[in-house]
Amino acid sequence: MIQADYHLHSCFSSDSETQIKDIIETAVLKGFDTICLTDHHDIDFPVDKNGFDFQLDTPAYWNTMTKLRDEYKDKLDIRIGVELGLMSHISDEAAAYANAYPFDFIIGSSHLVNLVDPYYPEYYEGRTETEAYRAYFESILENVKAIKTYDVYGHLDYVVRYGPTKNLNFKFSDYAEVFEALLKIIIQDGKGIEINTDGLYKGLGYPHPHMDILKLYKSLGGEIITVGSDAHITDKLGYGFDMAEQYLLEAGFSYYTVFKNRTPEYRRLGV
Ligand SMILES: [Zn+2]
Ligand SMILES: [Zn+2]
Repeated sequence: MIQADYHLHSCFSSDSETQIKDIIETAVLKGFDTICLTDHHDIDFPVDKNGFDFQLDTPAYWNTMTKLRDEYKDKLDIRIGVELGLMSHISDEAAAYANAYPFDFIIGSSHLVNLVDPYYPEYYEGRTETEAYRAYFESILENVKAIKTYDVYGHLDYVVRYGPTKNLNFKFSDYAEVFEALLKIIIQDGKGIEINTDGLYKGLGYPHPHMDILKLYKSLGGEIITVGSDAHITDKLGYGFDMAEQYLLEAGFSYYTVFKNRTPEYRRLGV
C-alpha cells in the first residue's frame, strides 16, 4: 500500500484554493504517513487567460509549511517541495531558486513549450497532433540537458491530456527515440520520474506516464520513482494509488521512492 503522496497543490498554487491544513487533515484521515506539498513555481510564465502567473510566494509558503510541519509532527511526516516549471532558457534562474530554500523534493515539470501551454488549443494549431506531441517531448529532452536542479521529472506525457484526440492515437513508437534519449539523461544524472495519477481522473485510463514509457525507464536502469496524485482539491489526494501500485509492479518495480532533504528513500511495493 502506497502511503506517500508526493505531488500535491494548495492555495499557494495559482490554480488551487485548497488550504494546506485541509490537505494535511485529509492525508491523516486517509491513512497516509507522509506527504509532500509541491506547489507551482513557473519562472517566466506568461500570465494566462485565467489570470494565473504560477509564481509561488515562497517566503510565505515556507513560513506556513514549517509551522504546520511542526504542529503535525506526531501525526504525519510532512515534507516541503515544489513543482518547478522547467524550460531550457531559465536554467540559471531554476538552479538559483532550487538552491535558495532547503526543499525536501523538487519535481521538474514542463508546462510550456516555447512559452505556450499545451493546455490551450492554440498549441495544436498549424501542425498535426503527432508533431505537437513530439515538440513537447523534445522540449523535455532540451530541459534535461540544460537543467540538473530537480529530483524527478513530472508527468512526462502531460501533453496527451490535452491534445485534440488525447491519447486515442498516441503511439509510443512514434517518439521512442526521444524518450530513450531523455530517460538516459535523467538516469545518468541520478534523477527519477513520477507516477502521476492525474491521468486516471483526466480520462486517460492510466496514470502518467504510459506503460511503454515506464517499462523503457525500467529497462534502462531507472529506479527512482515517486507517486503523486497532483491533487488540487482534497478529494483527489491519493487518488488511484491502488492502481498505481499495480501499474508499478506490472512494469517490474519493487520499490517506490520518497524524498527528504533532496535524498531518495525507498519503500517496498506490494506490502
Ligand atoms: Zn504539472
Ligand atoms: Zn502539479
